[in-house]
Amino acid sequence: MPKQMIVGVDLGGSKINVILSDSSGNIKERDLRDTLAHEGPEAVIKRIIESIKQVASGADIAGIGIGAAGACETSTGVITLSPNLPGWHNIPLKDIIQREFSLPTYLENDATVAALGEHYFGGGVGIENLVYVTVGTGIGGGIIIGGQLYRGASGSAGEIGHMTIDINGPRCNCGNIGCWETLASGTALAREAVRQVEAGAQTTILNFAAGDPRAGREGGSTKKVSAQSVFLAAQDGDRLAKELISRTGYYLGVGLVNLVNIFNPQLVLIGGGLSQMGPLLLDPAIKVVRERAFELPARAVRIEPARLGADAGAMGAVALVLQEKFS
Ligand SMILES: [Zn+2]
Repeated sequence: MPKQMIVGVDLGGSKINVILSDSSGNIKERDLRDTLAHEGPEAVIKRIIESIKQVASGADIAGIGIGAAGACETSTGVITLSPNLPGWHNIPLKDIIQREFSLPTYLENDATVAALGEHYFGGGVGIENLVYVTVGTGIGGGIIIGGQLYRGASGSAGEIGHMTIDINGPRCNCGNIGCWETLASGTALAREAVRQVEAGAQTTILNFAAGDPRAGREGGSTKKVSAQSVFLAAQDGDRLAKELISRTGYYLGVGLVNLVNIFNPQLVLIGGGLSQMGPLLLDPAIKVVRERAFELPARAVRIEPARLGADAGAMGAVALVLQEKFS
């Protein structure tokens, strides 16, 4: 392992998280700033460069890894498209950063690198076959087979949030119908909560939406109810909120059954914002896997919360440099 430092960049739709780490994953410096994605690619790239300069100042750097919230063509280092970064079409981010710093630079999708981060530094250390699932606004993931990232033919493997779970289900942002993330994401949970509230269900969920400065009832609408409002209500003992989270967990489990049957992993790590719901979400998911997956893979797999939290992307970007440059 190199003695030099590594820069890890997590480019998200709302935050840019940049860290300076040694090769064991000890974070030495960090810079977190707003992406301000609406200002477009040029302004965002300028902020990334400033942020890297901030953390890397004076350090001996082996390379820069980037995990980006979008579809990345890894062979060219181009972000082809991003639903969370308006205006990002075919942006050669890897080349731009490499030219700016004259350092080896690597680019991958953020959920994919988070899987690698968990494998190198988090809950998946020493585990050769694992699936990482991030559940937040949508669902993303990464697959490690034999200790290596599985990228597929064009680098897009791991779009697990868009496996079809219900062919008659809700329409997905991707254009397809009944994708996993239309049923088991934070967005899906909030949508169901709004539907129940508007139907007049007995629940305290709205009280917790009103506690959020961005939330509340606008003209009688309850559209600002978030997954977080449902979680807070559930923690406060609200029966409907608990049921809604349990239902989301059930659908999470249905997708996990497919992953467990296909990949026979030793470990499935659940990260992303919804993983903070803990057993309320994970217990129903694990129950479905025990009931529905094939016996052998169901017996072999552990399903646990991921460990790297909000740093998963940036730590994953550090791991990407280690994997690409040093292994
Ligand atoms: Zn989809």
